[in-house]
Amino acid sequence: MPTSTQRQQEPQPAPPLPEPLRVPVADSHTHLDMQEPSVEEAIAAAASVGVTTLIQVGCDLERSRWAARTAAEHPSVHATVALHPNEAPRAAARGELESSLAEIEKLAALPQVLAVGETGLDYFRTGEDGRESQHYSFRSHIAIAKRQDRALVIHDRDAHADVLRILDEEGAPERTVFHCFSGDAEMAAHCASRGWFMSFAGNVTFKNAQPLRDALAVAPPELVLVETDAPFLTPAPYRGRPNAPYLVPVTLRAMAETKGMSEDSLAEHVAANTARAFGC
Ligand SMILES: [Zn+2]
Ligand SMILES: [Zn+2]
Repeated sequence: MPTSTQRQQEPQPAPPLPEPLRVPVADSHTHLDMQEPSVEEAIAAAASVGVTTLIQVGCDLERSRWAARTAAEHPSVHATVALHPNEAPRAAARGELESSLAEIEKLAALPQVLAVGETGLDYFRTGEDGRESQHYSFRSHIAIAKRQDRALVIHDRDAHADVLRILDEEGAPERTVFHCFSGDAEMAAHCASRGWFMSFAGNVTFKNAQPLRDALAVAPPELVLVETDAPFLTPAPYRGRPNAPYLVPVTLRAMAETKGMSEDSLAEHVAANTARAFGC
């Protein structure tokens, strides 16, 4: 008999295909390079349920190059490039932060790269000693997004106040997206007042996520996006099983319920918002 710990580590079967959306949408944030199935399989499964566009997000220099390459090879995939906030201190420790940022800017200029991100602040995984380089990297990414006229994709974990402060100090790019939005209703209202997009992931379906649902409830439909952040954050009732872009409909349906909107109406908004945010 395996212990319960061992049982959790065994690979869990992939969740079944949900019923297709009638209005196609994009997965605004995914990591195909961290998922089991091939890129082709992931694209096909997603398209079969109405998730027809995928935004592939880069987290370090190598993965950003991969994202740009993959987007060039697949018309339905678009790329974002960045050093993740947890990668910034590591690059700084290797003495490679400046040169990596310069490479990121070159990648950001490619036509299939629609955004700079995920960048931002992560106080959950990076301690005090990494904050200076994290802040510097975030400010640099904001500048790159503005210079290259790209959207900015923000990762904000346990760092709301500093993320908002730095955005205001630097001046946010015209198109700014909070990925895996994790603020409360007050922060959603703040983002709405600035015209920033809020992208919701599978954690909005979690039982303990009422504050996040309260945020979604006040977020204007014109600023709401949906994402998987796959392979992470698999929506209920499939928690613990591998996430993938084809599970967007599960999260979108839960979001429609929270907002008291029909699935089709929310999907129409999300599709238009994603196109406006990323220019895709
Ligand atoms: Zn993130
Ligand atoms: Zn991510």
